Amino acid sequence: MRHILSRPLLTVVGLLLSACTVGASAGKTPPRPAKDRPNVVVIFADDLGYGDLGCYGHPTIRTPRLDQMARQGLRFTSFYVAASVCTPSRAGLLTGRYPIRSGMCHDTRRVLFPDSSGGLPASEVTIAALLRTLGYATGCVGKWHLGHLPEYLPTSRGFDSYFGIPYSNDMDRVAEPKLGKNIFWQPSVKYWNVPLLRDARIVERPADQHTLTKRYTEAAVTFIRKNRERPFFLYLAHTMPHVPLFVSKEFAGKSQRGLYGDVVEELDWSVGQVLDALRDEGLSENTLVIFTSDNGPWLIFGLHGGSAGLLRDGKGSTWEGGVRVPCIMSWPGQIPAGRTTSDIASTLDILPTVARLAGGKAPEDRAIDGLDLAPLLLDGGKSPRDTMFFYRGTRLFAARQGPYKAHFITQPAYGGAKFEEHERPLLYHLEHDPSEKHDIGPDHAAVIAAIRQAVEQHRAKTAPGKNQLDGRLGKKAAR
Ligand code: MG
Repeated sequence: MRHILSRPLLTVVGLLLSACTVGASAGKTPPRPAKDRPNVVVIFADDLGYGDLGCYGHPTIRTPRLDQMARQGLRFTSFYVAASVCTPSRAGLLTGRYPIRSGMCHDTRRVLFPDSSGGLPASEVTIAALLRTLGYATGCVGKWHLGHLPEYLPTSRGFDSYFGIPYSNDMDRVAEPKLGKNIFWQPSVKYWNVPLLRDARIVERPADQHTLTKRYTEAAVTFIRKNRERPFFLYLAHTMPHVPLFVSKEFAGKSQRGLYGDVVEELDWSVGQVLDALRDEGLSENTLVIFTSDNGPWLIFGLHGGSAGLLRDGKGSTWEGGVRVPCIMSWPGQIPAGRTTSDIASTLDILPTVARLAGGKAPEDRAIDGLDLAPLLLDGGKSPRDTMFFYRGTRLFAARQGPYKAHFITQPAYGGAKFEEHERPLLYHLEHDPSEKHDIGPDHAAVIAAIRQAVEQHRAKTAPGKNQLDGRLGKKAAR
């Protein structure tokens, strides 16, 4: 039997197979050289924790497409968001600036709500607005949460089109008060009167959250196919796995990790659909794909919240579990396959990185906190980022420099938890102690002094913007 498939026959089979592979994108040669204004796809999960993917060590949630993307690209193990809750994190991603600068953070109203009157100011330059000036088509699909009034929606912030919900899926709550938190354990669409928008128009209310992941995915794939002939930027910001958790029929009850696992496995399917669409359109080698999350897991929701793995605390806190998230970047042929880096990088860095790759520049008329990651991505070099500042609301709680992180203020994520200012900051060596368990401050006065100096320099050049999260609409005006 061994000899039936002789070498010449194997060669023929191989040729046929490769012809079939090529056939998948037959007649669809890349419209331009791979490095000429590459497409950019940012897939942003909501409240997905550092420990929630197979390629980040989760033992039972299956994420084969993300694992494959990691094998074919670059996996980050020290990747940080700009803030540990939704609104300021998204403002940081899309502007490349700490949210304190745009006024998109607040100490009590930590995110925007349906009665909020503010949003991302028109003076801010988003990735979409910037890439649009370079000839990109720009599409936003999913959760926005940077202002739900027409003047703040994606179509007013540089995106050609929008399909999604304007804020979190646990808002517009209409459940009877007696149900309390129980509405989360057996969620029903009718408990949350969240609108679904196409551009600036409500097309469904309440949004059928069971099918959001699927419909976002279809919209993303449609956008890719429609724009295959020109450079594009797709921002696919999933609503899941933010509570209340909803999943489509095909994924319900399928994972070993219960409903939360079902939801993450559907997100993994969604990533696969996007990657397959790029491949089928012959665009894989023209496209930088970035997958990450807006903040850590919402631990107060127990089994409906995710896992920060070995990191401390979760969403809402400036401990590592709140701000360090999974991140995978792939660009076949440009980003070498199969690397993992523990270099520091951030969502703040995406704007200057893609601006440069697209042949443009980050805005020069304002402070940009992001740094160009191209040397790390493309040339196997080091990350240009050595320092990261961690805010809770408008206050700087902690800072990382190299492997050291100093906490000047600590407060557990939720629940009226104790606010503590530390005259001598707590200090952790994150390479030795990623779980932030062993305070080494007493033996490292010089390290603390250096971090203090970096914080002072940062403060001196960081002017807070006019606050956008404290304004409220009158009752009638609220959507
Ligand atoms: Mg979030």
